Amino acid sequence: MSRDLIRAWIEENAPASLRGTASTPFQGYWGGNSEFMSADQRLWFERCLERGWTAPKWPVEYGGGGMSVEEHRTWTEELQRLRMPLPLVGIGLTMIGPILLEAGSEAQKAEHLPPIIRGELRWCQGYSEPEAGSDLASLVCSTRFEGDEIIVNGQKIWTSHAEVSDWIFCLVRTDTSTKHGGISFLLIDMTSPGITTRTIELISGASPFCEVFLDDVRVPASNLVGEVNKGWGVAKALLRHERGMVGESIAAGGARLPVLQRWTLRDAAIERIGLVDGRLADPLLRDRIAQAEMDQECMRLTVKRANDKLKAGDNPGAETSILKIAGTELNQRRWDIGMAIAGPDGLGWEGDDYTDIDRGLARQWLRSRGNSIEGGTNEIQRNIVARHVLGLPKQ
Ligand SMILES: Cc1cc2nc3c(=O)[nH]c(=O)nc-3n(C[C@H](O)[C@H](O)[C@H](O)COP(=O)(O)OP(=O)(O)OC[C@H]3O[C@@H](n4cnc5c(N)ncnc54)[C@H](O)[C@@H]3O)c2cc1C
Repeated sequence: MSRDLIRAWIEENAPASLRGTASTPFQGYWGGNSEFMSADQRLWFERCLERGWTAPKWPVEYGGGGMSVEEHRTWTEELQRLRMPLPLVGIGLTMIGPILLEAGSEAQKAEHLPPIIRGELRWCQGYSEPEAGSDLASLVCSTRFEGDEIIVNGQKIWTSHAEVSDWIFCLVRTDTSTKHGGISFLLIDMTSPGITTRTIELISGASPFCEVFLDDVRVPASNLVGEVNKGWGVAKALLRHERGMVGESIAAGGARLPVLQRWTLRDAAIERIGLVDGRLADPLLRDRIAQAEMDQECMRLTVKRANDKLKAGDNPGAETSILKIAGTELNQRRWDIGMAIAGPDGLGWEGDDYTDIDRGLARQWLRSRGNSIEGGTNEIQRNIVARHVLGLPKQ
């Protein structure tokens, strides 16, 4: 499909009220029991769904759009051109779906991919445990087999959006005699008896985090993705998708100032600080913004190059760790600049007394601190780059 066709379709179908509103690829409808933010968001979702373009790259047989990597890149670029939000977002689409396509059984693909595409289900990720974060393979969530069921007991932590999710993909221990070789990858229905969630408040005030407790939860053994005790390979492949996605999302937008989603750093600085002789009045800030914008463009081009590798049939490799480090640190830097532009007004927490530039800024700035922790900390990514990209010795 040519760029002209994709562009024409978007021009014809993208509701005017959504144009110019996207600041990150995390904006869009989240599926499951999430609410549509507006009638136009629903309309946009439904129009895309008709073409399979809520999951543009996924095979047509499951309801996806069957786009090639090149077509998908064009689709993304054309959406970005109009700053249109994606019709559907969430880790069903970006993490578990791609893994099921790679490693799931035919039955698992047929059961789970169509409802993800139709936005009917929301997924969460049950990897981290209280004593297993960076050293994820030390996880202890226990299992025992009973007939064709697996009984799961344990606790997960930092599970984003668990309280509103329909399904969770979990790493569980199926063999205690070996570390990495005793882990399995299991899909669990969040409505199963024995699952409870408890929210944890974040420094930014919002509470998308949960603890998840699994108490004698019975799961069909057919929900294992890949073979029993082979879950570590599946888990790592999924993390590469996650890290690539984080980096890619930064490349697509980076920090815009909040609420109205329309203030770029440049525009906000001009509005707040003003121009002298056509240039931003604060030269130090001007320098920081110019550097961040150049780095943003470099990031965008690097992601584009990485996507070209995918076009050649590769799966995301350890290089996604580079994108994750660069993307998250750039994003944090951009929010730091946002705070510098706002000055003391940026510290506003809630209330109606703030301008569009300042409202919610502190919360998003604080949220960006988590970018270098989620999906595996940046220290761990540096270890991966050192060993698996640069081939450096362990010590
Ligand atoms: C916003 C956010 C969302 C998240 N969402 C999810 C989710 O949905 N599902 C999920 O399962 N998890 C989620 N997490 C958890 C995240 O994956 C873990 O926090 C992360 O892997 C780090 O684990 P930890 O918090 O136990 O820190 P620790 O592993 O205890 O690390 C503490 C510090 O020590 C450093 N460190 C540890 N080991 C090494 C080493 N070998 N070399 C160098 N430095 C090291 C780390 O870099 C870090 O700075 C989320 C986290 C955040 C912040």
